[in-house]
Amino acid sequence: MRIVGEEDEGILRLVDTHAHLSDLEDREGVIGRAREAGIEAIVAVGGNLETSRATLGWADDYGGYVHPAVGIHPTEWMGDDVDETLRFIDEHVDRCVAVGEIGLDYWNREAKRSEDVRERQREIYIRQLEIAVEHGKPASVHGRGAWDDALGLAREHGPDRIIFHWFSGPLDILREVLDYGYLISATPAAEFSRDHRAALAEAPLESMVIETDSPVSYHGKRAEPADILLTLRSLADLKGVSEEDVAEVTTLNAERFFGL
Ligand SMILES: [Zn+2]
Repeated sequence: MRIVGEEDEGILRLVDTHAHLSDLEDREGVIGRAREAGIEAIVAVGGNLETSRATLGWADDYGGYVHPAVGIHPTEWMGDDVDETLRFIDEHVDRCVAVGEIGLDYWNREAKRSEDVRERQREIYIRQLEIAVEHGKPASVHGRGAWDDALGLAREHGPDRIIFHWFSGPLDILREVLDYGYLISATPAAEFSRDHRAALAEAPLESMVIETDSPVSYHGKRAEPADILLTLRSLADLKGVSEEDVAEVTTLNAERFFGL
């Protein structure tokens, strides 16, 4: 019989590789529950000037636990002074573990309607890929509805280390992503999203990290990093391996990728 107690703590070592902590309240509670869930590190991403700045604030408050990334999300630059935000990213990325969240989103309402918007997304994405290369940082990339271009531009302009976050694109593009040595991430949608599940079934665990994309809602509840356990369970089910194995492999991948 196993005695549940202190010895059992820390069996699972997890990394939430993509969380928008700046959109969460109750900092102490969020971090406390994350630690209880076995999370040893959180990569906190920004999406515009305000949230990138706030993300650095979280990292100041929880140094060594919250690891920041700064970036302009493909749907969050409208209304911002993009040049000012790009300067901010360039000036602060050295204290970050990555550039992110960056990328393309052609399913965004404005992008669907306008080639100009899609072109602007590409410009901003390319510039941030270049910043990542210039500073020797990896990138956390969003590619909803735009996986082909997200990959192509990453190949042309980006760093060697890229995570295609919440990959749910076509499997032929996934195979290219894997061939180039990039990673993909699994979210709690691993439980129910057909396209996401197809990608996770195809890719080897060695090419994967896990995340929550907090505070995205799953089953009507806003996620926080502790909900990484949903990702862990769904991915273990899907791959037919133990949660311990998923935790071990994906955590090693995350540590290596981000240099944690
Ligand atoms: Zn995100």
